[in-house]
Amino acid sequence: MHMVCDVELGADILAANKKLAERNLQHLHSHDVKCFDVQGAIGSGKTLIIEGLVEILKARGTRCGVIAGDVAGDDDYRRFNAHGVPVINVNTGKECHLDAHLVDHAMEKLNLDELDVLFIENVGNLVCPADFPLGSDKRMTVVSVTEGDDMVRKHPVLMGTSDIIVVNKIGLAEAMEVDPEVLRRDAGAINPHIPVVFTDARAGQGLDILLEKLGLA
Ligand code: MG
Repeated sequence: MHMVCDVELGADILAANKKLAERNLQHLHSHDVKCFDVQGAIGSGKTLIIEGLVEILKARGTRCGVIAGDVAGDDDYRRFNAHGVPVINVNTGKECHLDAHLVDHAMEKLNLDELDVLFIENVGNLVCPADFPLGSDKRMTVVSVTEGDDMVRKHPVLMGTSDIIVVNKIGLAEAMEVDPEVLRRDAGAINPHIPVVFTDARAGQGLDILLEKLGLA
């Protein structure tokens, strides 16, 4: 009996999160803001990719904001802040993911009328975020070749809920003896029509294609 209650409570939490995520996106659209959330393991390059996209968009006059999710600290917050864009830092403490409620509160601190694009960087994790949509137009998941060629197939649920997969640090593929086409093939097996973009965020490579896939070209 106790187990049944647990399961129902879990389902309620997920349903409430989904509803709030939909409300978040409606709220953003009512202010003409497009939103993209970014998942990926620690060290995959999420922050650097967003920084690169923000710089390109800024140069075009597109106004960006960022919600930086991390378990602790303000390292990513300070990196985004250095680009001169509005940033909200969200520390989740013991939680391994952001949820729509945390994003709702972070959005309250942003002036949405002064933004065109909002990026949300999730906590570094490829499991927990799968169940918690945040309210974005597109969900992007980043893997890097330095994590090995099995990162996509090991995380089918998150890959299945993603709209774009980014394979980062592509310049290191040969040194790591990783064939990035394996990651592309695995992505296609999980989610047949998903775009897979190869990037080297440090070199700025592939970010133009990524923007195109996000509908921001
Ligand atoms: Mg980061």
